[in-house]
Amino acid sequence: MTSHDDALAQRLAACRLPWPGSRKIHAPGLLHPDLRVPMREVLLSNGERVVLYDTSGPYTDPEVAIDLRQGLPRRPRRAGTGGQRTQLHLARRGVITPEMEYVAIRENGRRAWAQAYLDDGGREDRLRGQPRGASLPAQVTPDFVRDEVARGRAIIPANPQHPELEPMVIGRNFRVKVNANIGNSALGSSLDAEVEKLVWAIRWGADTVMDLSTGPDIAATREALLRNAPVPIGTVPIYEALERVGGVAEDLSWAVFRDTLVEQAQQGVDYVTVHAGLREAFIPLTATRRTGIVSRGGAILARWCVAHRRENFLYTHFEELCDILQAWDVSLSLGDGLRPGSLADANDDAQFAELRTLGELTRIAWSHDVQTMVEGPGHVPLHLVEANVEAQLHHCHEAPFYTLGPLTIDVSPGYDHIASAIGAAMIGWAGTAMLCYVTPKEHLGLPDREDVRQGLMAYRIAAHAADVAKGHPTARAHDDALSRARFEFRWEDQFRLALDPQTARDFHDQTLPADGAKSAPFCSMCGPKFCSMRMSHQVREAAGVPVAGPVPQATSARATASPTLMPSTPAERMPPA
Ligand code: SF4
Repeated sequence: MTSHDDALAQRLAACRLPWPGSRKIHAPGLLHPDLRVPMREVLLSNGERVVLYDTSGPYTDPEVAIDLRQGLPRRPRRAGTGGQRTQLHLARRGVITPEMEYVAIRENGRRAWAQAYLDDGGREDRLRGQPRGASLPAQVTPDFVRDEVARGRAIIPANPQHPELEPMVIGRNFRVKVNANIGNSALGSSLDAEVEKLVWAIRWGADTVMDLSTGPDIAATREALLRNAPVPIGTVPIYEALERVGGVAEDLSWAVFRDTLVEQAQQGVDYVTVHAGLREAFIPLTATRRTGIVSRGGAILARWCVAHRRENFLYTHFEELCDILQAWDVSLSLGDGLRPGSLADANDDAQFAELRTLGELTRIAWSHDVQTMVEGPGHVPLHLVEANVEAQLHHCHEAPFYTLGPLTIDVSPGYDHIASAIGAAMIGWAGTAMLCYVTPKEHLGLPDREDVRQGLMAYRIAAHAADVAKGHPTARAHDDALSRARFEFRWEDQFRLALDPQTARDFHDQTLPADGAKSAPFCSMCGPKFCSMRMSHQVREAAGVPVAGPVPQATSARATASPTLMPSTPAERMPPA
């Protein structure tokens, strides 16, 4: 083994550590009993068991041996290709596929647990979410999923050629999802580094991963990612098509793009971004923009249109493109090639001309039974965020909206993950189904491992804030469980329930590293004499009021649990990122 392999093995080992105080559990299906839907069960010191949505795949299951060279275990759920068998086609005919039942179980988690937190009627009345047109059911049934897919309001990106996948759903009436972009460029990264970044990204909550490679070995990188990805993999095929013509946009053609798309579909890509809505006539609308065309795919196609003085070949061949996607059940993500790249360009004529075209293309894709979502901006000031969602819902017939951020200011290089997470929380609440993360390196360079984690944390916070605001039943219960642990000074439970247990523990350890401090009724922020929560305990004790309410009862689960539980304190240390 070389020192490079050694270093990779060590970094992967860090990606594979089970979450503290947690174990992987699997719930079976009722309609499809062979399903094994993964969840993370967190065991708290008061006997409570909290069940969380888990994107990390088999990597956090100590029972699963993984060799990145061999790829993950394959679990085919559907017959392969054959056309006319997309999730949308089957949903319209009333068929509940294994994937539909899988995502229903996954979305629910263990709602009986959450219910214990929601049973306080007065508190619920005060805190009830404002779904702003979304319909979040108390219980997600497989038929609810089928109906949402049939209406085009949700997609399940699950190419049957990607049997390593743990299916998930993207739709406004489900938990808000987060995408992470990875991929090499001509100036950086390697195949191993990208696979490691994938595993790292799903550990920190990426629901899907887009491979945006533009450098060497695009096909090999994608193959390695697909074979090791339990989450849907998306691509932008025009990048590889451009590589095939030596990087000269003018030399692109429908034939080159078609061949690239077919190969990616055969490989197992679950969804593709296609900038078919950037029409030749819209290009002059960008002439007075502050930042022109900032989408890479958009800029490539605009250059081709201008060079040939012809309509975008993705627009003119759109029906043929849909036939390919339908044959492999590859979901379509209609790219926003004219998204604004600065606040100055937000909501301008170019952006909305393309959005209206994306609505037309959505209907055409649906007529081919192609599952479709629509991409959105970009850079949008807070006061224009809602108008973007309203326009997308109106013009694109409620197809799921998938937005990059948006960044709410332009003056935050180095901190754009924060500037955009603010917009992401707002747009997620307003109705966006999936948020594409932004890392601190946005506009500055290729993100590394730590950037990926920072970007994902910012976006998990944004998505969770949106879920709480919409009234998702398990989202606020998760907050409530952590707050309860905080008030009862159960520090280890706080760490376990945190989105990033490692950082929470590290920060606490910086000033109070002793094990005894993990049950102390204060921390170093206010100190023992000024700890307001400690004084609250004293107030309640003086009034004869119980300090803590009854412990929410653990409910019986049909799920099977991994017997391996990460040991409790003090052993639940995690290595540095
Ligand atoms: S010392 Fe302050 S920050 Fe720390 S637990 Fe008490 S109230 Fe909270």
